[in-house]
Amino acid sequence: MADSTNQTQKRRALVTGGAHGIGRAVCMRLAADGYAVAVADIASDEAARLARLMGIGHVALAVDLADPQAAGELPAKAAEALGGLDVVINNAGVTDSSGRTLVDLPQAAIAHMVAINLTAVEQIAKAAGAILKPGSCIVNLASGAAYRALALRGPYSATKAGIVALTRALAEEFEPRGIAVAAVAPGYTATPLVEELERTARVDLSAVAAGIPLGRLARPEDIASAVAFAASAEGGGINGQTLIVDGGGMMGSAPKA
Ligand code: NAD
Repeated sequence: MADSTNQTQKRRALVTGGAHGIGRAVCMRLAADGYAVAVADIASDEAARLARLMGIGHVALAVDLADPQAAGELPAKAAEALGGLDVVINNAGVTDSSGRTLVDLPQAAIAHMVAINLTAVEQIAKAAGAILKPGSCIVNLASGAAYRALALRGPYSATKAGIVALTRALAEEFEPRGIAVAAVAPGYTATPLVEELERTARVDLSAVAAGIPLGRLARPEDIASAVAFAASAEGGGINGQTLIVDGGGMMGSAPKA
């Protein structure tokens, strides 16, 4: 969405989970596009290192998004640190990579995923909705898992399906405030989260890549491009929708003859 308040002012973005993986690529892409970025992460040293690497005007915010109060305080902290806030990227997300079925998964592991993947996003959107100006936007990270049958990933998939639904509902609710809400749903992307899945839950990433028409996992930069587009003036018409960026993995292609 365009900044209708002041076209000459640098746009300011909060990126959760910005220290690693997709979030890190989003931070670097937005910084390259001219945004001032607040990198919010539980990995505070890495977040601070990235803010320094990106240069003057970028900041790091230490936060544990498992704490709903801390999540709700984040937009105001980012606005204070950056001198305002135009874009919120709800990127932080966790999965359980232990390879346990739902029957064996402790309730604490399920609650942890719900807290970070869904409750924190709701808390941040609630707080951001009160301070963002018309022309601002929120982009949430969903997942291809919201649409697919994935054994061992039920609670994770449910949180991501929740993000798709929340995005739609918030777009409707924030429309009178002039705030757009969109989501990006990556397929398998080469990040620490997926490398951990391969190590512990025996996901064979070569087999995954072979099932993707593009022939490879997404790169974090591919997802960052879609996020940056959804947050940009050019992507301003995207509202309530989830962009699937999975190299064609969900097209359901027939086997090659
Ligand atoms: P990642 O594990 O590589 O990075 C996640 C980031 O979130 C890390 O910097 C981590 O420190 C931070 N984080 C974790 N717990 C936190 C907490 N309690 N408080 C604050 N920060 C915390 O993950 P990723 O692969 O880059 O995934 C980013 C987003 O994209 C997630 O929402 C994920 O569900 C989604 N996604 C990823 C893939 C994939 O294949 N990698 C696919 C679909 C969707």
